[in-house]
Amino acid sequence: MHCPFCSAEDTKVIDSRLVAGGGQVRRRRECLSCRERFTTYESAELVMPKIVKHDGTRQPFDEEKLIAGISKALEKRPVSTEEIEQSINRIKHRLRATGERELKSRILGEEVMTELQKLDEVAYVRFASVYRSFQDINEFKEEIDRLTRPGQDD
Ligand SMILES: [Zn+2]
Repeated sequence: MHCPFCSAEDTKVIDSRLVAGGGQVRRRRECLSCRERFTTYESAELVMPKIVKHDGTRQPFDEEKLIAGISKALEKRPVSTEEIEQSINRIKHRLRATGERELKSRILGEEVMTELQKLDEVAYVRFASVYRSFQDINEFKEEIDRLTRPGQDD
């Protein structure tokens, strides 16, 4: 790749190592023109299936939204960020492992429920019934937002 400092075409790799548990290659490179050094990361591009919503519309898989939804469900529960990350990774892995290019949001929702159940029984029980009546992860998140918003009448 071109040098990000001077755009020269020739850069050389001076160090290369596996990171992120072997899922990424980190390379130190040096520009042969300006001698600046920089780092690149290489990892496989893994395409997530599109999510087909309850109303038939399709959306790209949205990891941020998924993290937000799960974090909301676990609000004030004794579950670490690391555990949540591992859950998200398991969900992504299973969705990719289906080999499908599109998946119904219901399937994503069920995966979230499976992980919530493992993470925290209280959060699971609290939200499973709510989710089941929506069958759509986006509506689910909206409902969680509504339920956890302070100052709402119950
Ligand atoms: Zn350069």
